[in-house]
Amino acid sequence: VHEFAIAESLIKIATEQAAKNGAAGIFSVRVKVGKMTSVVPEALHFAFDTLSKGTLLEGAKLVIDEVPLTVSCAKCGKSSELDEPAFQCPHCSATDLKIVTGRELHVDSMEID
Ligand SMILES: [Zn+2]
Repeated sequence: VHEFAIAESLIKIATEQAAKNGAAGIFSVRVKVGKMTSVVPEALHFAFDTLSKGTLLEGAKLVIDEVPLTVSCAKCGKSSELDEPAFQCPHCSATDLKIVTGRELHVDSMEID
């Protein structure tokens, strides 16, 4: 259910940006969503469509770029993409991993009128 809170803040950011640029409307908003955020894209689309009604973003297309979870291993130094958050290096089985990507949750770009 946190998709509604996320959509709300994305809409706020996009609206502020558009206002700053004197936009009459917004065609699309591209957001980066990392796998670690456990955001469900369908739920985010639904929340976005619902909450954008009556704002500059009404009718705007939400484009979600899903960012995979990648980690770098402190032991062998290799970077890997993990499918599941089973925090273990696929090369050496070490568990001392640093998250490189996968925590993103922000507006990447938008097309304004
Ligand atoms: Zn390793």
